[in-house]
Amino acid sequence: MIKRNPLVMVPGPTPVARSIQDAMGRETISYNDPRMAADFKSLIEDLTSLWRCDGIAFVVAGSGTMAMEMGIVNVADEGERVLVCSNGFFGDRYADICARKHFETENLKSAKWGKSVTVDEVDAKLSEKKFDVLVVTHVETSTGVEFPLRELMSMMRSEHPDVLVVVDGVASMGGVEFYMDWGVDVMLTCSQKCFGAAPGLGVLWASRRALEKRESMPLLTEAYIDFERWAPVMRDTNRYWGTPAVNMIWAFCEAVRIIKEEGLENRFKRHRAYADAIRESLRAIGFVMGADEDIAAPTVTVALYPENSGFDDVSFRGAVYDEGAHIAACPGNLSGAGFRIGHMGNIDAHILISLVASIERACLKSGYKIEPGAGLSVMQRKLMDM
Ligand code: PMP
Repeated sequence: MIKRNPLVMVPGPTPVARSIQDAMGRETISYNDPRMAADFKSLIEDLTSLWRCDGIAFVVAGSGTMAMEMGIVNVADEGERVLVCSNGFFGDRYADICARKHFETENLKSAKWGKSVTVDEVDAKLSEKKFDVLVVTHVETSTGVEFPLRELMSMMRSEHPDVLVVVDGVASMGGVEFYMDWGVDVMLTCSQKCFGAAPGLGVLWASRRALEKRESMPLLTEAYIDFERWAPVMRDTNRYWGTPAVNMIWAFCEAVRIIKEEGLENRFKRHRAYADAIRESLRAIGFVMGADEDIAAPTVTVALYPENSGFDDVSFRGAVYDEGAHIAACPGNLSGAGFRIGHMGNIDAHILISLVASIERACLKSGYKIEPGAGLSVMQRKLMDM
């Protein structure tokens, strides 16, 4: 019998569509072949216009963490004050990156994992003393919490318009509502999440104000991730700074083509509907959601084992894997208490049904008393309502 790969339901990488894999598999040409330069140019134009950016988009080889580093060093100067809002593991990672850069960093943490720092808390903190840059994580992948970004940006525009805003959109961009004209200065992501390409590219959108801030700053100690080095390449893709990841750029072009075909607004709606269906199905099986419903992310779900249920985390996730779906462990504070599911990018009804079915079979095979089909019937109904 053919043994298929398990579904990739971790919060990145996400399932990569055949056409994106094919784009990656094309015969490599030089980055300065006119055909490559033209494809790269249209990618940058698409990213800039789709997300209504008045500056430029950057596509640079590297992971999301590189994009985080690139995002902050270009808009915060040495000794400047940076306020990081952390809802979990990746927020703390951003605070660590900032502290290493010798910015005066404060880490405003959510009350606990599964909650979000509130807009009022940010307002109060920024009113207390002067900060130069605010950093937030749009979707915190460790807890499945969505930061209320639209509300935050409306407060920032009216109360703290001089503070630059950097957003880690690694687990949100391409799946969750957002446009640069909300007033964000740097938005960042990477290829392997909601865009549904393989890992390998960092992607950033910088506002005109962010580019001006960089221009006003001295030479950076970081060379590879300097906006000033890459901006000429993004404006004229025939130019060179570091060799662009030719095949990944093709893959990303195809990922963006798929997004344009679906339509951004449709894609945002689909992510919310799928997330709701997954949470309801998991509840019907008996799991407890890790994030409060009003801040539960459209792209990542943390499901906790019910109290005293005796679930053994490692063997349960192993059983789900054997039944055909790769789900992720919870890091940090939630380690062993539940599991995480990534539901981002190019997924569909077949994937959702198979995911829930794998989880149900893993429960039954592991001896947990659940009603077979309890989650599946919820999922079917939800899918029929979409
Ligand atoms: N930020 C968030 C919110 C993430 O989920 C991740 C990756 N899971 C990162 C940053 C880091 O990205 P990478 O692993 O590609 O370096």
